[in-house]
Formats: sequence, C-alpha cells, structure tokens
Amino acid sequence: MVHFVGAGPGAPDLITLRGAELVKRTDVVIYAGSLVNPALLGLVKEKCKIYNSAEMTLEQVLDVMKESEAQGLDLVRLHTGDPCLYGAVREQMDQLDKLNIPWDDTPGVSSFCGAAAALGAEYTLPGVSQTVIITRMAGRTPVPERESLERLASHGASMAIFLSAGMQEQVQAALLKGGAYTPDTPAAIVYKATWPEEKIVRCTVGNLARAGDAAGIWKTAIILVGGFLGQSYERSKLYDPGFTTEFRQGTDSPAQGG
Ligand code: SAH
Repeated sequence: MVHFVGAGPGAPDLITLRGAELVKRTDVVIYAGSLVNPALLGLVKEKCKIYNSAEMTLEQVLDVMKESEAQGLDLVRLHTGDPCLYGAVREQMDQLDKLNIPWDDTPGVSSFCGAAAALGAEYTLPGVSQTVIITRMAGRTPVPERESLERLASHGASMAIFLSAGMQEQVQAALLKGGAYTPDTPAAIVYKATWPEEKIVRCTVGNLARAGDAAGIWKTAIILVGGFLGQSYERSKLYDPGFTTEFRQGTDSPAQGG
C-alpha cells in the first residue's frame, strides 16, 4: 500500500503522530527532496529503501510504487507541508487507482501555517480579513489568467504566496497593480519556517523586493501580505462578554430558550 504523508514545514517534530508511525513502519520511502527535513528519514527501519523524488519523474516514482506493491511492501510518499498544496499528488493518486494499488493520505502542517506561527500571526483577523488566498506567481509553471496575482490582489485579503521567492520584483509589482494593497501594506518573507535556519523579514508591499534581496532570500520562502500583519484589528465576537453563543450567555442579549 502507498501512504501519502505530509512531513510538515520542516521541524521534524511537526509531522503528525500518524505520519511518524507510518514512516517508522514503512519498507520504502520516496521523499520530496530538500524540503523534507533529513531528520525524518532517521525514523525509518534499517532496511528501508529511500528515494529522493527531486531526481525522479512521475513515471519513475510510479515504477517504484508498482514494484513495492508487487512485493507486498508498504511505501511512504513523503511530501513537504501538506500534500494537498503544490504536491502533485493527484496525478499519483489517479495512476495508483488505475493500477489498483491502494493508497491513503495523512495530512501535514502546511508551511503557510508554519510561517504564521513563526510570525505570531492570525490570517483571519476580525475587521481586517476573513479570507486567506493561497497562491503563487506564474513562472515557468503557469497560473490560470483569471487567478493572476494582480487580480487576486484586488481583494486586499490575507495572502500566502508560495513558490515565488525568486520573483519578488514581479510579486511586488503585481500586488501594487491589484489596487487594494498600498506600498504601506505590511508584508513578510519567511524563509524555511520552523527549520533551525528560519529567517523572518518583516517589510511592506512597497519594499518587499528590496527587503528580500537584502536578506539574500530567493527560495524556500513564503511571502505573506495583508493588514493581518499590521497592528489594528477588532476583538473577536466569540469571546466578547456581550455576545451570546450556544455555550455562553452574553450581557447584551436576552437569554435564549432551548
Ligand atoms: N505542500 C507544501 C508546499 C510545497 S511547494 C506545503 O504545504 O507547505 C514548495 C513551496 O512551499 C516553497 O517554494 C515555499 O514557497 C513553500 N515552503 C515549503 N516549506 C517552507 C518553509 N519551511 N518555510 C517557508 N516556505 C516553505
């Protein structure tokens, strides 16, 4: 059987308990190159075979999966963060279905969550934004035109931009063209969130490219943008003494029947 497992953003103890258990028990691992912490490979059994998918094509990955299944072995396909974001998992799952090879999927902590933790940030601040846009800048891999960074930037929502640290000039220009962010809108570049070499650069949309360049960050980073990185927001209704919820009577409204 094939187990897709989210390795988490970097720190080896940010894999889930289920994911770690699967890694410990497996006979074969195919891990997603430099973005998976090598410390996780230290969990495997002595006889476990290890492959680095950075050097492989989809066909080669599938060949290893087919061979393992034919031998009745368990295989863990270890993806960075959560497999559901930029993991190219769907094409593997569909091929496994065609081959009648069973698989399951264990989620992981995505790097946009690791980056928020590093910054002590909340994407969904009341009065600021209730939406997180997860996207990337079009580069060698295209993005549908209707999802161009400039168009998405017109919402002014909280944004987590993956796979774009090498294109910071273009990111900055597209964010400003969108019309909802200003040069003063707060931004941050988080390099290798949760790894020992993590770097945090707080900046603004107007000086994002310069700040990233000065810090020498051009890969393995996520760019976060939006008022959620600023200082002003409203307090939550949920924990407001006046607000009545299913579990708590607030001071501003009569008791609910029921
Ligand atoms: N599935 C992964 C994303 C894989 S795409 C996830 O859920 O996080 C690879 C991109 O993810 C990188 O280019 C970078 O933008 C981001 N990334 C992955 N790990 C990161 C980390 N520890 N810190 C910052 N960005 C990271």
